[in-house]
Amino acid sequence: MKYILGNWKANKNFIEVKQWIYTFQREYRANKNVVLGIFPPTPFISYVQGKLKDCKNVFVGSQTVSSFEKGSYTGEVTATSLDGVAEYSIIGHSERRRVFAETDEQLSEKVMQALAHNIVPVYCVRDEKDPIPNGVKFVAYEPIIAIGTGQNEPAAQTLMMKRKMKLPHDVVFIYGGSVNEKNASEYFSTGEIDGFLIGKASLDPKQFILIAETAK
Ligand code: PEP
Repeated sequence: MKYILGNWKANKNFIEVKQWIYTFQREYRANKNVVLGIFPPTPFISYVQGKLKDCKNVFVGSQTVSSFEKGSYTGEVTATSLDGVAEYSIIGHSERRRVFAETDEQLSEKVMQALAHNIVPVYCVRDEKDPIPNGVKFVAYEPIIAIGTGQNEPAAQTLMMKRKMKLPHDVVFIYGGSVNEKNASEYFSTGEIDGFLIGKASLDPKQFILIAETAK
């Protein structure tokens, strides 16, 4: 199975979300070997999930999850509140580590929260030095210099990093960093990269679908 995950980050207002969904519904053709994941800003998760619930092989996820279970934590997005709405959650994105100072310890707690609430963590690492918490079955390797720069890492280098990580065989390994419809197939031709976490190119539904088509 191949996984094409789109992280919209803090982009799009409600009108733009509706336009994205409209185009996506018109253009998307499911493929049994390809799963698509969409990670909208939190206020739109439920809306997007409702709109796409009948699209085969499409799921909706959260861009983050709290390390707290519930309670007096104003503004937090808890796994308790996401349970039954989001199937996956990105955890440890380099922007969360850098801008919001999330630590390895907090990230471990977030993974525990997600797992306790039936949410699959998509755990982001910057290189082989970032520890991966127990229970993680989905690793997104995202080299900092490739994120949002237009300079994707060559697939051969990505493969070398995968080897250094010594991941168990049942772990899904995806790459993120300036993936687009032109460079995507380079990764799949290695036979060892299971998909992508995509930022900018996922904001355009047509481009997102074109990338997914390279996985067939
Ligand atoms: C990301 O932020 O996870 C990412 C991979 O972004 P981009 O595709 O824009 O490089």
